[in-house]
Formats: sequence, structure tokens, C-alpha cells
Amino acid sequence: MKHLAILGSTGSIGQSTLSIVEQFPERYSVVALAAGRNVDEAFAQAVRWRPRVVSLATEELAAQLAARLRQAGITGIELVHGTEGTIVCATLPQANFVVSAIVGVAGLAATHAAILAGKPIGLANKECMVAAGEILTAAARQHNVPILPIDSEHNAVHQCLRVGAHNEVKFIWLTASGGPFRQLPLDQFVGITPEQALKHPTWVMGRRITIDSATMLNKGLEVIEACRLFDVAPSQVRVTIHPQSTVHSLVEFVDGSILAQISVTDMRLPILYALAHPERPASNLTFDLAALKHLEFEQPDFDRFPCLRLAFEAAEKGGTHCIALNAADEIAVAAFLERRIPFTGIPRTIEKVLAATPEAHPTTIAEVLAADREARERARVHLT
Ligand code: MG
Repeated sequence: MKHLAILGSTGSIGQSTLSIVEQFPERYSVVALAAGRNVDEAFAQAVRWRPRVVSLATEELAAQLAARLRQAGITGIELVHGTEGTIVCATLPQANFVVSAIVGVAGLAATHAAILAGKPIGLANKECMVAAGEILTAAARQHNVPILPIDSEHNAVHQCLRVGAHNEVKFIWLTASGGPFRQLPLDQFVGITPEQALKHPTWVMGRRITIDSATMLNKGLEVIEACRLFDVAPSQVRVTIHPQSTVHSLVEFVDGSILAQISVTDMRLPILYALAHPERPASNLTFDLAALKHLEFEQPDFDRFPCLRLAFEAAEKGGTHCIALNAADEIAVAAFLERRIPFTGIPRTIEKVLAATPEAHPTTIAEVLAADREARERARVHLT
């Protein structure tokens, strides 16, 4: 039986994870939920799952939830808050698997704490790997903790890698949908509105990741994530635009064989894979082979998607440049959504911040968070 601590329980990955628990009650239970800011959803989840601990973003929100649970006559749930609260969830003695799905570096401290506590991780938070991958993977090796990727591409790669040895891998091919602007004339990019950018052709996701898909910065973060998770150089990671999002990624081996992972575009599948690994439980997620009739793969255009180029450059430098890439993008995307900068201002901001970022390799989470704050400050200064 796996007893789950779900960090980011009210987000889309958190909710999909809970739907897996619902389907497999004999395999999974919920012992801790880190819920963020949505008190209504946190209340509903606490009532349904009766975890031992629930964490909310702030003390005030935790007090609101406490009052609602009292009114409903529900006792026995410990309420915690803030970063400390997420760490309490992540290191709860009763938890023996942690789903890391808090968006952004807010999930970093808890993910690191879970690894140090020896808890296997289902990782949906790519920013953690981008900002602190060197530290997290070293800690995971030291504590013999598996990190199972939930990000669909890395989950696909993880599956493909099971058939070959590390030194037999030639390239990891990450597929990208190419987003909604794959064919838009380049001179129209400056006029792209938040509404247009928020319409993703194949996946339904959160707001930042949807914009990051449109700029392909998301794929850039995934390149860095792949380097860290699978211990390969950036030159061994390639991106291919595959608008159908049917092949979730591929691994090319040195003998010329290429393995692909194909399945329905539904995050429940990678979540189930991560939770159940190394087993494969039967699920009702089926794929119609007829959908393989039209599969396209094309080279990404770095002029159209400068964020992808910036990400490869940051991947080569590592350390603070990867931290700054992620931090500057988050600030720039927020500014774009508030209509303060155009779509093309997103890569411009990131490029400026990267140019101003000194190269360094933080060795502690505190140093990572300090570099993250500095990069955000640089991005804000650049925006004003
Ligand atoms: Mg992905």
C-alpha cells in the first residue's frame, strides 16, 4: 500500500492524482495534502480523503479551513501552513510516496526535504529540477531515492530507457506540440494576445505552462529537466515538433533503434506509471491505433521560438543560468498576462536577465532560492 503525500493537491496534477487514488483504493491512500490557496477545494478534499495533515499557503487560510472543518464536525486533521507546512507534509512519517506537483520553486524545499527523508518522489514540478536539479539528483543518489517523472515527455523517456543501458543512449527526443503559433507568420507574434496564447491545441493545463507551451520555453525547461533526470548532456537532448502529441517522447539508441512511448493524452497515465512503478496496473486508458495514421515530426525553428534557444544555452551553462531562465520567464509571463508586455517581450526579458546573471553553481537550496530572487528582481527591473 502506498500512502501518499500530495504537494499541490488542488492543482490539475493533484486532482488527477486523487482520481487515480479513487480508482485504486486497494493500492493508494492519502495521508497528507498541501493545497495552496484554494480553501474550498482543500475543504472538499479534506472531507473526502481525511488525511492526517493539510497544509495551506498562509496561516490565515489554514485558520479558515480549520473553522470550516470544525463547523462540519471533522476532527483529527492537523493544519499547517507555508513552506514549513509543505515540508511537514513531505516528510510525514506515515507517507511512503510523495507527489511533487506544486508549481514553481515554492515546491522546492518540500521536494528536497522528501528526498532527504528517503521518500520516493513522483515529480510533476519541473521548475524544481530546472532550478535545483544538480542538488536534488545528488541527494536522491545519496539516499537511494527514486525520482519518477510525471511530466509526460520524461515519463515517456523513463519508460523507453528501461530497455537499454545508459551508455547505449544516443539521443533523447522530446516531442513538443509546437503550441498554437506553430504556423503563425513571424511578424504577427508581437500582436499575440493572452487569450490566443491560452488556447492550447492538445493539452488542458495551468496558465503559465500554457503560455510556456506557446513560447516553447516549457520545452526548454524540459530539456534541462531531461539532462538532470537522465544524466545526459544538453547535446544529447533533441526537440521535435509533433503537433498530434501522440508520441510522448522517444529514445534513440547507439545501434540506431528508436523507441517511442505512445498513449492517450491524459495525465492520469504518467501519474499511474509513477505511482505504481515498477508495476503496471491495468487501467481503462486505451489508445486507438487509428490515430497513428497522421503523425508529423518537424524541426523547431529557433527564430520563431527564441525561448528554446535560450534554454539550450542555459542548459549548457547550468547552475544560476537555469535558475534565471525559469525565474525570469515566470515574471515575464505574468507581465504578458497582465498585458504589460507583448508576447515577444517574454524571450526579450529572459535574454536580458540571462545576460546579466553571473555564472555560479549553488550547492544548497537556500543559495538556489537566493539566485531565484535575484533573477526575479532583475526581470522586474528590466520590465519597468
Ligand atoms: Mg511536458
